[in-house]
Formats: sequence, structure tokens, C-alpha cells
Amino acid sequence: MQMQINRKRLEESMAALGRIGETPAGGLSRLALTDEDRRGRDLLVEWMRAAGLTVAIDRMGNIFGERPGREGLPPVMMGSHADSVPTGGKYDGQLGVLCALEAIRTLNDNKTATRHPVVMAIFTNEEGARFQPAMIGSGVMAGQIALEDAYNARDRDGLRLGDELERIGYLGPELCIPRPIRAYLELHIEQGPILEEQHLSVGVVEGIVAISWSKLVLTGVQDHAGPTPMRMRKDALVAAADIVRGVREIPRKIGGDMVATVGRLDVAPNIPNAIPGKVTMSVDLRAPDEHHVTRAVGLLDRLVKDTARAEGVRYDTSTSRSSTLSSGRPRTRGPAIAVCSRERGTTPSTWRPSVPPA
Ligand SMILES: [Zn+2]
Repeated sequence: MQMQINRKRLEESMAALGRIGETPAGGLSRLALTDEDRRGRDLLVEWMRAAGLTVAIDRMGNIFGERPGREGLPPVMMGSHADSVPTGGKYDGQLGVLCALEAIRTLNDNKTATRHPVVMAIFTNEEGARFQPAMIGSGVMAGQIALEDAYNARDRDGLRLGDELERIGYLGPELCIPRPIRAYLELHIEQGPILEEQHLSVGVVEGIVAISWSKLVLTGVQDHAGPTPMRMRKDALVAAADIVRGVREIPRKIGGDMVATVGRLDVAPNIPNAIPGKVTMSVDLRAPDEHHVTRAVGLLDRLVKDTARAEGVRYDTSTSRSSTLSSGRPRTRGPAIAVCSRERGTTPSTWRPSVPPA
């Protein structure tokens, strides 16, 4: 049966939810477990109940609204996140949540019964802008993060995630554990520039890239900028600068869709008239192919070692890794690819691997 969503209703819902935490520039600032997040959640829950969904909230504040199926089968789950980064856009997360709601409203309009229950899901703190790590609500549900560790995550002001969940009234009674799910569907804006560059309106995510995060601490000798001759310097920032340049070369050496980023530098003492004695920096390496990340980490180790020796600084490295993830089984990806192929007027075989969301 052909069903059509109500586009106007979806747009109105997007606008109404987007007013909560709206920035002067028309963007969105609705950080996880703030008062704005609570107001956004309250509105969503109100809409979910109005659509006849049975709403359940788990111990991580993840919200689930169930539309029963004809048979006692695992649900088809749809959704996203309702939190944003400090200067986010209105489509990131909101689109996935509200398209799930619109799909359910459309099933209701058409009085369509489904075999499987349909569940709308809103996951807590997916962005990770306020509490780290990101994707903490879904991470606990997937059994990847311990509930207590999640509760003990603190924001910049030292506020505990568990306390903030309770404060906004979203510390629910349901267990936050892996559950059988028939399929999970999420519509998400593209976070990179590729679809836009190619004038495409839609694509299918095929997987999540493997990521390596390294924290480097470079320790040189802090000294006066005036009296210390150049030949006697052990400058941690000069070493860091060489590493930044070197990291930029890593993707070129590895090839594929590898990307590498130094996004953070903390320089001490960070004043104009002292040779920097210490730099703490981050290195973020990502690739769809896990072996590429492994090779990149090897190149980074070599780079840090050689640079530190050349500048006479000491170094300390700690690295954490995450694996690639395939985005589910062909039976759920297949229809999505078919829809997108129609949109693009191409066959799926011409597709390049897509960039993952976060
Ligand atoms: Zn998002």
C-alpha cells in the first residue's frame, strides 16, 4: 500500500520543537539534560502520547514510544537524539526523531496495523557535547558502557549525569539493556559536505568508521624567551607543530578514506615570553577500514618518537580505539538503498562508501 507522510505536519513539528533552545541565528542550543532538553523531551512525550504511543523511559533517560503490532514480535525501532551541540542546527537529531513520529502518525492516519510493534526512540546525550563520551544513552543500552560509569560522567561544571537526569525528571524505571529489535532505522542529516557537493538529497550509511584517539603529552624545558640561546632549547610547542604537520601527511600515506585531525593543543605556560615547557595534544584518526587505522597509529608512533628525539623533548602517549561497525543487515539496508537509488537515478553499485553520522 502506498502511504504518504504529511509534510506540512512534519515541518510544523520541526519548527515547534526547534523553538526550544533556538539560538538568535536560528540554530539550536539544547545540550543534554539541561532545562531546554527537558522542555524538548516534554513536548516530544506529549506528542508521542497524543499519537497513542505507550511511553517508557529507561534508567539512562532514553525514551521509547511503542505502537503495538499484531504479533508479539521484536519491534521495528526508529528514532535519533533530541540533544544538540552548543551551536547546532535544527535538523541534527530532531529530523530523525520527528520523521519517526511522522511515520507513526501516518500509520495512524491510514489505520494501518503492522505485524511488528513500531517503537520511536530518543537516545540521551548522543552528541556528547555536555557529557563524554558521546552516544552514552545508546552505549549503555548496547551494553558497551556500564550504567554507573555513565551516571558518573561530569560536565564542565562538575555536574553529574545521573544527578542531572534525576533533576529534569527523566531518570526512568525501565532497565537500560540490550533488547531484541527487528530493525533500527534512523534518518539523519549528512554531517559532512559530500552529498551537498554532489547535489544529492539522500544517501545510505553503510557503516561507522574505526576511530583512534590519542592523547600526547610532550615535555620539554620551560625557560625564558630572552636569555636562552636557540641551540639550547627543548621546545614542546615546536615538537607539537612538527607533529601537527606530520599527522596531516598520514592520510596521504595510507590512502583510502582515511582522515586525521589534531583538534586540541594545551600549551603551558602559554605566555608570550616563555619557551613552552609542556604541550598536551589530541590526535584523531579515522578510516572505514580498520587496518588503515592500525597502520596510521603505527605511523603516528614513529612520528612522535622521531620528532621528540629531534627536539629533545620527552613524550607520553595514550591511545584508545573503536572498531568499525556495519550498519545492519541487507534486509533493512536494501529498501533504503532502493529508495535512494530512485532519487539519484542510479544503481546501487555505483555508490561510494558513505560518511558516518555522529
Ligand atoms: Zn546527530
